[in-house]
Amino acid sequence: MKIIDIINQDRPTLSFEVFPPKKDTDFADVEAAACSIAAYKPDYMSVTYGAGGSTKGHTIRLAKEIQEKYNVPTIAHLTCVCADKETIRKALTEMKDAGIENILALRGDVPKNYEGEVFTDFVHASELVRLIKETGDFCVGGACYPEVHPDSANKKADIEGLKKKVEAGCEYLTTQMFFDNTIFFNFMYRLRTAGVMVPVIPGIMPITKRVQVKNAVKLSGCNVPERFKSIVDAFGDTEAAMRQAGIAYATDQIIDLMANGVKHVHVYSMNKPDVAYGIQKNLSEILKA
Ligand code: FAD
Repeated sequence: MKIIDIINQDRPTLSFEVFPPKKDTDFADVEAAACSIAAYKPDYMSVTYGAGGSTKGHTIRLAKEIQEKYNVPTIAHLTCVCADKETIRKALTEMKDAGIENILALRGDVPKNYEGEVFTDFVHASELVRLIKETGDFCVGGACYPEVHPDSANKKADIEGLKKKVEAGCEYLTTQMFFDNTIFFNFMYRLRTAGVMVPVIPGIMPITKRVQVKNAVKLSGCNVPERFKSIVDAFGDTEAAMRQAGIAYATDQIIDLMANGVKHVHVYSMNKPDVAYGIQKNLSEILKA
């Protein structure tokens, strides 16, 4: 099923994300975690793509399995950095053959120590979106950044980039993680004022370990509110307490988003079935309301 059809239904949705392993030998563990999450029957699941296409086979295999075994629609991520059109067309054929109908089209980041040519046929995700739309009947999503993508000169330029992605055929956007909902609401205001009207799904990352905060900031440059810093200071050294507090914080963010008109939320569940379960359980009645 196409993600755009799922989010166009008039009901709240919750989706989860998993990431494939880098090594073949780790596939069974990741598969078990992804299947446990799929068994909770989220509205859909996304499967990420390793830097520079390093996990292509695993991304497709995992997405296919989740769909076939659990009947949960999946969206496979696909990046175009360090790839040429030929490689992307091949990936699209493999995705189609695997029954994948949804693709999150991304530029990606250059892998560490990469020595080949970076921007061969693609410079921006919008070019990948266009190629996917020309190639097959896929629903195409894209990424957006409420705190502005680091390559953008400013907020205005950032939105101009998103506009081009939407004009190329991107049907909806999923945000980078954020820990302060005000940042998301302000971003939505800027986006709608600029005429970008596609659905935007906030991406929420439950932080359940102290080390994740550092990684999240390094990865996305996101702002960490004082309220969350206090939680990490108080509970970061006690695994179970930090997990409970992190799930509660993410739940609180989601409830606030839904109370303010947001219908669809994507959770960066990071191959953690207990985290996915905790969030889903906390929202069980809210998702029915
Ligand atoms: P783009 O949309 O190309 O944007 C990059 C920069 O170019 C921005 O500054 C933008 O404003 C500008 N820009 C965009 N289009 C144009 C244009 N036409 N003209 C001029 N400027 C333009 N990475 C992975 O490797 N694998 C994943 O699975 C993955 N999943 C992700 C999922 C989400 C929801 C998010 C938010 C990010 C994900 N990433 C993933 C990270 C992402 O690849 C990086 O953030 C990357 O740096 C940018 O990718 P993009 O698709 O947003 O790029």
